[in-house]
Amino acid sequence: MLTDQDRIFTNIYGMADRSLKGAQARGAWDGTADLIKKGRDWIIDEVKGSGLRGRGGAGFPTGLKWSFMPKESDGRPSYLVVNADESEPGTCKDREIMRHDPHLFIEGCLVASFAMNAHACYIYIRGEYIREREALQVAIDEAYDAGLLGKNAAGSGWDFDLYLHHGAGAYICGEETALLESLEGRKGMPRLKPPFPANTGLYGAPTTVNNVESIAVVPTILRRGAGWFSSFGRENNAGTKLFAISGHVENPCVVEEAMSIPLQELLEKHCGGVRGGWKNLKTVIPGGSSVRCLPHTVCDDAIMDFDWLRGQGSGLGTAAVIVMDQSTDIIKAIWRLSKFYKHESCGQCTPCREGTGWMMRVMDRLVTGDAEPEEIDMLLDVTKQVEGHTICALGDAAAWPIQGLIQHYREEIEDRIKAKRTGRMGAMAAE
Ligand code: NAD
Ligand code: SF4
Repeated sequence: MLTDQDRIFTNIYGMADRSLKGAQARGAWDGTADLIKKGRDWIIDEVKGSGLRGRGGAGFPTGLKWSFMPKESDGRPSYLVVNADESEPGTCKDREIMRHDPHLFIEGCLVASFAMNAHACYIYIRGEYIREREALQVAIDEAYDAGLLGKNAAGSGWDFDLYLHHGAGAYICGEETALLESLEGRKGMPRLKPPFPANTGLYGAPTTVNNVESIAVVPTILRRGAGWFSSFGRENNAGTKLFAISGHVENPCVVEEAMSIPLQELLEKHCGGVRGGWKNLKTVIPGGSSVRCLPHTVCDDAIMDFDWLRGQGSGLGTAAVIVMDQSTDIIKAIWRLSKFYKHESCGQCTPCREGTGWMMRVMDRLVTGDAEPEEIDMLLDVTKQVEGHTICALGDAAAWPIQGLIQHYREEIEDRIKAKRTGRMGAMAAE
């Protein structure tokens, strides 16, 4: 169990002073130059040893990703780009870091950039995050004024500039290569990978794209040690983690907990439990909208980490836990997600452009019960044609929630179609 002393984000609810002075009193910017003077290899080895996996959703090992960056410059600059385009439905954890603990994050940008030989870092922040942008800019200005950014940043001998760039409300710009396109001034359309950004990224230069939380935890990992961080959670699923819990719980919240915490414990300890009690739980989407839901029977034993949830055909994703009780119309809930993905598809590849529209139109009929029973399998078939056949992960993200719905709630869909038919036939008989 995580104690208050173990928490990295000590101002997640904004109760303390978020200014530089307040952040320093809570431990930010403590010995930053000393950490940097230990060298690139030491920093990357510590991050690898901590077991930190990317907190943006995919869970790729952070230290390994950093090690893909060239050690020596080939004439091109290297960049760190931080993905703060937090748009996954249900996800609002990075928002709390940028609002209330911006200095830990800014310090992380400096240390991570140094480790990757980057003198410049761009933070791409979601367009709708206006207050967060303002809070972050105030903190960046404070850091420049205090000599923590700029020439000889924090007395480390490393020159470093940090830029804040805001998006314009497109979900797809959270995909790392669409984000880079947008940052370069073009339409946010994903690029084919490979090449990965470490090879050809921003302006064709070596680039690492990391999530806000992944970067913000780094200074504390370096100060407390890789072993401290990896002591939380399970093997291959280490560390502390921000969970954003919404929906039918008594007290929705964002909370930092140990990775691998049981779902029931997470909800009961921090959210006052499921509305109407645990038995009233119907389903949970455990990782933001882009994963398959878990039915109640699976939730009883659920462990909140990458590997356990993947083993159930779902995923930890962004650790945005969307809780739905027995009163939920699950078909309608998933239909709403289909509408979202259809709207946000950039339209660049055919399976996604056509498939998201196709899936949404069948979902329209399933919600009202106006579909033919055979359309359930047809819909499942379409999701499989989209999954794995698109340029970016949005196609999978559109397919998986529907697959989860059909896998776990097929009976409910069939009952709705039957009820509609019976009603229709009853009405016809009465005519
Ligand atoms: P991905 O698995 O393709 O890549 C993850 C990261 O690892 C990327 O930075 C990628 O460049 C790197 N990588 C992967 N394989 C590599 C290789 N062989 N060599 C070098 N680098 C490699 O996943 P993704 O498309 O970046 O992310 C998908 C996830 O994003 C989804 O699981 C979803 O949960 C999440 N997501 C999050 C948000 C949000 O608001 N935070 C929004 C939408 C989706
Ligand atoms: Fe665009 Fe969808 Fe293709 Fe991604 S999968 S590139 S969002 S059309």
